Amino acid sequence: MTRAKVRHLTVNIKSKPEFRLAYWDIDSGREGPCLLVTAALHGNEVQGSEVIRRFCPLAEKKIVKGRMLLIPFANPLAVWNRRPHIVSTMANPKGSMVERLINGKKMLVPDPRDNINCTWPGNPDGNMAEQMSHALFKGIIEQATHNIDLHCYNRFWATAAVPEGEEKAIEFAMAGAYPFVIPGHPVIKTNYNGPYILSGWFNANGRTAYSVEFSGQYSVVEKEVGVGVRALINSSRYLGMFRGKPAGIEETIVKGPATRDFTVRAPFEGLFVENGLATGDFVRKGDLLGHLFSDRNLRTARILSPSDGYLYAYGRHSNMCDVDLADMHPYSDRGDTLAVVVSKKC
Ligand SMILES: [Zn+2]
Repeated sequence: MTRAKVRHLTVNIKSKPEFRLAYWDIDSGREGPCLLVTAALHGNEVQGSEVIRRFCPLAEKKIVKGRMLLIPFANPLAVWNRRPHIVSTMANPKGSMVERLINGKKMLVPDPRDNINCTWPGNPDGNMAEQMSHALFKGIIEQATHNIDLHCYNRFWATAAVPEGEEKAIEFAMAGAYPFVIPGHPVIKTNYNGPYILSGWFNANGRTAYSVEFSGQYSVVEKEVGVGVRALINSSRYLGMFRGKPAGIEETIVKGPATRDFTVRAPFEGLFVENGLATGDFVRKGDLLGHLFSDRNLRTARILSPSDGYLYAYGRHSNMCDVDLADMHPYSDRGDTLAVVVSKKC
């Protein structure tokens, strides 16, 4: 048994009161990897915080080598704000709006520097997100050899590990036995010259890391927490920090060249009512996914699965469904995506 020490990092960000960020340090005293697990870099993505809380006592019992640094609330200012970023507001959930030239047109877009996960390794003279990442980086992160960075995306997409392209990062992610592994998912914005996303900094500096997206923000879902705890146990086994071999790897779907996406679209406008399935569920060709109820003529259409496969996406949603309730509304325009069924190519 190795006791987890609660440590504190004192953080000073200009224009904010000083605060102390709490984290667990589990040092086996034996040489080995230094595994960093981070959660809640985005303040509305808190499922990983509970995953870490449940994992910590297991790690105290099982660690046989190396050291673990577990940060359940990596960006407290954003958590206290209960929104993605430190400066997010209801009107500007994705950060302060700045003018950018896009395809020759001046447009207002969210400032990427307000997203802490676009700022690594940070900047002591930058904005609040950049100062926060700098403090974390210098105080805790720099010493780690491996990182698993726990995020959450919208609840309509299945839980996935989303490593960048590097083979060793993909292999590390595969060991977690997540429902899906999606190398190079568009949520990962690879920037090879920095500033990086956190896992990108590790992979660009001779270390190994990947990000996870649990299904659902602003909430903690029991099923997701179970997936996360198993993944951290598996990852620790993969690194030799726990005894044993990772379990359940054969259950993972690697979404990519070996799979095919069947996108189910609304045949007309109406309310899409789900049939009680969940992302990650296996469906057979012809299974009832839900029904579409037309507001124009009160007709109902049954929406069926076009293939055997696993539900990667389920439920009517659009672009801003991670921050805007209207984009989570089940009323569909004609052609809206209602589900994505992923099947393995034979
Ligand atoms: Zn995130």
